[in-house]
Amino acid sequence: MLNVGFIGWRGMVGSVLMERMRAERDFDSIDATFFTTSNVGGSGPDVGQGTKKLVDAKDLDALSKHAVLVSCQGGDYTSEVYPKLRSLGWTGYFIDAASTLRMNDDAVLILDPVNLDVIQNGLSKGLKTYVGPNCTVSLMLMAISGLFRASLVEWLSSMTYQAASGAGAANMRELALQMQHIGRVTGDLLASPSSSALAIERAIADAVRSPDFPTKEFGAPLATSLIPWIDKPVDLGQTKEEWKGFAETNKILSTPQPIPVDGLCVRVGSMRCHAQGLTIKLKRNAPLDEIESLIRGSNEWVKWVPNDKAATLRDLSPAAISGTLTVPVGRVRKMRLGEEFLAVFTVGDQLLWGAAEPLRRMLLILRRHLNV
Ligand code: NAP
Repeated sequence: MLNVGFIGWRGMVGSVLMERMRAERDFDSIDATFFTTSNVGGSGPDVGQGTKKLVDAKDLDALSKHAVLVSCQGGDYTSEVYPKLRSLGWTGYFIDAASTLRMNDDAVLILDPVNLDVIQNGLSKGLKTYVGPNCTVSLMLMAISGLFRASLVEWLSSMTYQAASGAGAANMRELALQMQHIGRVTGDLLASPSSSALAIERAIADAVRSPDFPTKEFGAPLATSLIPWIDKPVDLGQTKEEWKGFAETNKILSTPQPIPVDGLCVRVGSMRCHAQGLTIKLKRNAPLDEIESLIRGSNEWVKWVPNDKAATLRDLSPAAISGTLTVPVGRVRKMRLGEEFLAVFTVGDQLLWGAAEPLRRMLLILRRHLNV
């Protein structure tokens, strides 16, 4: 049995991780301890091993008894606890959802359907820190890693349509509250078949601009609108979310020469699925049937969506794939910009491939590596 401590298991990412691990019966071969920052001594979750008491997530002694720690607790926790654990000489494996350690030289970014070779190389070099990458980058790579593997990508621009869940549970709630508010102010108008679309639009515009509209978390209306800014500013006018596109793509793929990646990241009113419109500059004029075969071959979760209206409406949207591991890829065509320019649209559940699933799969890889 692998001896694993879980920190942050009841948060949003942690809950999805627990759900997936239960569904796949991963706990059958894991001796689990559950930690807490808020309820020491309370009852832990029953994952088929009975309930145990929750242990203090700041207790370094208790933490360091574990061969593996999985944290979905957040960056502040990692910044506080991880260096102390290492400086005490703890040599276990740390698997983290937070971004804190991602760019450390001794940390490996984990997305095994895309970079199993990089992960295995890290394990054979004795590296002990494995971090889930940014959700948008993970979903982009899940969709088109076949093109990277074939060395076809000269550069890439990603225009994103990112879900509320990426900002946290409170933001998901606020998006639903904004929708509820809009439902309330348009109720009477919608009940009357004779009310005009412009009257409905005016009621909505007035509502989203009013001080009563719930915007505490996002800082702006999202329902019926969008927010073209995610995270904090960094250099070159980019946001941190946009900066991650270049930095993390190249680190995940361990590229010998960095591949330029840039774009604009935009929050939209989707609950838990990110979407991205990609412009890809190919290194050569590869025919569309070769591109289709490379994208289809990216991994078993990619779903090729033919570039027609019926298939796109049916399969290529957050509504179609929310809560699943499927990564649909469609609208693939050559662009008017030239034969080497490719347009692609893709969608993915950011709480699964963008957060919990790579952590879960890293535990499986570790079990095989450690032979337990
Ligand atoms: P979260 O939902 O805020 O959970 C973090 C912790 O908050 C929980 O483990 C829990 O710790 C505590 N908490 C306090 N009140 C809670 C409540 N009412 N319900 C549940 N938990 C509560 O954080 P998260 O969104 O899962 O993110 C965790 C980490 O993953 C962050 O570093 C984040 O950046 C990263 N990440 C997030 C996403 C995403 O889509 N959200 C994607 C990739 C990576 P105690 O049990 O100790 O009180």
